[in-house]
Amino acid sequence: MMQNFSLRAGTIIDHAARYHPGREVIGRSVEGPIVHSNWQEVRRDAKRLSAALQGLGVQKGDVIGVMAWNTVRHLAVWYGIPGAGAVNHTLNPRLFAEQLVYIINHAEDRFIMVDPDLLPIFEAIIDKLPKIEKIIVLTDRAHMPESPLELLCYEELLEGQPDDAPWVEGDENDPCGICYTSGTTGNPKGVVYSHRSNVLHAMAAAAPDMVNISSNDRIMPVVPLFHANGWSIAYSAPMAGASMVMPGRDMTAAGLYEMLEMGVSFTAAVPTIWLGMLEHLKSGDLKFSSLKRVLIGGASCPRAVIETFQNDYGVQVLHAWGMTEMSPLGTICSFKPEVNALSPADRLTVQETVGHPPYTVDLEIMNDMGECLPWDGITQGRLMARGAAVVQRYLKGDGDAVDTSGWFDTGDVAIIDANGYVRITDRSKDVIKSGGEWISSIELENCAIAHPGVAEAAAVAVPHPKWGERPVLVIVPSAGQDPDKGEIMSLLENRFAKWQLPDDIFSVEALPHTATGKISKLELRQQLEDQGYKLPQ
Ligand code: ADP
Repeated sequence: MMQNFSLRAGTIIDHAARYHPGREVIGRSVEGPIVHSNWQEVRRDAKRLSAALQGLGVQKGDVIGVMAWNTVRHLAVWYGIPGAGAVNHTLNPRLFAEQLVYIINHAEDRFIMVDPDLLPIFEAIIDKLPKIEKIIVLTDRAHMPESPLELLCYEELLEGQPDDAPWVEGDENDPCGICYTSGTTGNPKGVVYSHRSNVLHAMAAAAPDMVNISSNDRIMPVVPLFHANGWSIAYSAPMAGASMVMPGRDMTAAGLYEMLEMGVSFTAAVPTIWLGMLEHLKSGDLKFSSLKRVLIGGASCPRAVIETFQNDYGVQVLHAWGMTEMSPLGTICSFKPEVNALSPADRLTVQETVGHPPYTVDLEIMNDMGECLPWDGITQGRLMARGAAVVQRYLKGDGDAVDTSGWFDTGDVAIIDANGYVRITDRSKDVIKSGGEWISSIELENCAIAHPGVAEAAAVAVPHPKWGERPVLVIVPSAGQDPDKGEIMSLLENRFAKWQLPDDIFSVEALPHTATGKISKLELRQQLEDQGYKLPQ
């Protein structure tokens, strides 16, 4: 008989502080200067916060909303809140005010913890948040902002608190964190991660065929902690005993590059960040001195980005797919032996897929009748998932979010090949159905982006009397360029059948984006409709 080791979040930071105590955790602080800390100090601050919160009356199961940049302090908050038995509700500052009001009230947040520069967001909406009792500003006394609100100062709260009081005990299935989906249709939905799901997810994510991190790595999450469980890096990095760099709020390519040059070996963000970074490197004739691997996910990563990182900068790309409901990791494109045996060009084509899942994630593609489809590298179906860190039911949801066999419909359309590699072709609501056949908007976009004059591209369906829908490609030109439409069409012709080609290509100054930086196809379709857009005859 074996011991029952409770999979609680506190065990992760306990492990890091005990076995990797001096491992550096460096960050750009909200006050400006770079701070140097380590796992022992992060744990000490988490312990102090946990005690302070309990002193303020926080009870087990209470929800605390956190709106903060990726800082060293924010890491301590990630452990201090669950350490007090409370639940860490991550808040995205880019959400519209009414969405924030909705999710804060829906999750019943009692306290708010907020970076000083983000406080005005709460000043504007506080009268719509009747349940908020206290607002804690994540800074020291000297940097406390002027405000009409009654505020508590984080560093003052921590003063004099015990460094090593025990974590609040509980079941490993207790809630640990909440993250809302951005809700392109309807209200956002809350996903409640348990201590157990977070620990299992971090273990699965850290494995060699996944993000492959160890105590020899220095990890910089560019992806904000408030986006999809922060891709779990605040758990997997200390679990592996890795060093970390927290970039703070300066998300410009120059600011991020400066932080990457602090010995970072591994980093993670959505493709848009890397498009900007590659531009910055090129224009300044810069190189990375320590970066070895980059995790790119959240939206499809164009082939050109993968190629440039690997061939020009010697940085291995890990293309990943996931979603808030999956904590978020679904798959990562690492090379199995079958792929290692391929030519470099064929391996690059494999990297356009999002790879394969870790242990704890199981996938299927299904048709509309719920029948499993073959993994033949051709057949498209609804991508279904189940696993140890996949949502079962949304917060206050009526009924389960899964079917009777436990499958969660990801809302994505995908192809799986014989090696178990997944290719995401669309979101089911963005799929373009022409004459009964599906055309992949993601593939059209990725192909168009390969043209140097195209900064961003979106393929959307426009209603057509004969074919039902036809694709239209909307592009944003790169700075100072006016790309030739005929050239873009030629690029597409090399890769797509004639009936899959867009009926029209046109330029716009900017595309609409969601709070997580993705192109909002819903809004774009709406814009075209509002403008009375007509397909060329
Ligand atoms: P939000 O919609 O709030 O940004 P998520 O981050 O949970 O929420 O988004 C998950 C969705 O992002 C997936 O269902 C999928 O459509 C898309 N996505 C994530 N990674 C990839 C990828 N590598 N390729 C294509 N689509 C992706």
